[in-house]
Amino acid sequence: MGLRFCSLASGSSGNCHFIASEATSLLIDVGLSGKRVEQSLERIGERIQDVQGILVTHEHRDHIHGVGILSRRFDIPIYANAHTWAVMENYIGDVREKNIMVFDTGKEFCIKDIQIKPYSISHDAADPVAFSFYHDDGKISITTDLGCVTDKIKKEIKDSNLLMIESNHDVEMLKMGRYPYYLKKRILGDKGHLSNEAAGKLIVDMMQESAPPEMVLLGHLSQENNFPELAYETVKEILVSNKIQVGTDICIDLTYRDKESKIYYIEK
Ligand SMILES: [Zn+2]
Ligand SMILES: [Zn+2]
Repeated sequence: MGLRFCSLASGSSGNCHFIASEATSLLIDVGLSGKRVEQSLERIGERIQDVQGILVTHEHRDHIHGVGILSRRFDIPIYANAHTWAVMENYIGDVREKNIMVFDTGKEFCIKDIQIKPYSISHDAADPVAFSFYHDDGKISITTDLGCVTDKIKKEIKDSNLLMIESNHDVEMLKMGRYPYYLKKRILGDKGHLSNEAAGKLIVDMMQESAPPEMVLLGHLSQENNFPELAYETVKEILVSNKIQVGTDICIDLTYRDKESKIYYIEK
């Protein structure tokens, strides 16, 4: 048996993903209301009562909105690094002492039978991280909310069976759009968000590796500066122009702001 994964929601209006082995169920970020997470899990045949940990990437509202509520209601431990905790605790309300779990960025740890590696990403938060999850020989990496991809990140996501990467915006749409200048600059900057094009290029790079990902999910799509079809087609075009066949060499899927993704199984 291996890992299963489902993105319950992804985008600047709220992020929450579910990952589980046969013995362990976890949530990555809860930027949705507690109620919505409960309903979402129910729709994919899972139960909030089985969730044994909430992992937090960074303290932006679209990632922590429902963290405190779920922890209090279902007695779930919250895992974040110290800098993220320092800011986050002002926004999520009181959490039981025993549910405050602190990890070190860059240092692997386990929650039951899932091994987790948090690593730094470039984003305008206190100490933002992405996560890779290991179980048996399977690996899943979730990497959104980053302004640029460093060699270190490429090294961390190498050998993932499933990789979720950010495909936030179309650069032209963002530049032409109605966002104020400072916000455009922030999103386009090194500590902002990855464009469709950057996502495509990263996938091309990963395909040169010895064990390229079998499945890539595009995440954190902007409502204002992107369309799902545009993200998908832009990425596909970049792959095809690099002689990579989508559907044969690699599968690409979308994740959604307002509904669950498919459920993905990594069987090893
Ligand atoms: Zn975000
Ligand atoms: Zn963010």
